[in-house]
Amino acid sequence: MNTKQETAVQKRKQEIITKEFCCSICGSKLEFTHFIDYDNKRVKESAICNECGVRFQTRDFELN
Ligand SMILES: [Zn+2]
Repeated sequence: MNTKQETAVQKRKQEIITKEFCCSICGSKLEFTHFIDYDNKRVKESAICNECGVRFQTRDFELN
């Protein structure tokens, strides 16, 4: 991991924490998980409700 990539990921995580997404079914705070694919310079993101066990959103974004 180089510093530039690491900074981008940390910045993105901070944005997510700030937004504090909640489950639309039970209102519990969603847990975000990230899988970093360095070969393709992409981060796969998903939000899971621990109460419902529902995965709400998954998206990819590029590391700049
Ligand atoms: Zn829920």
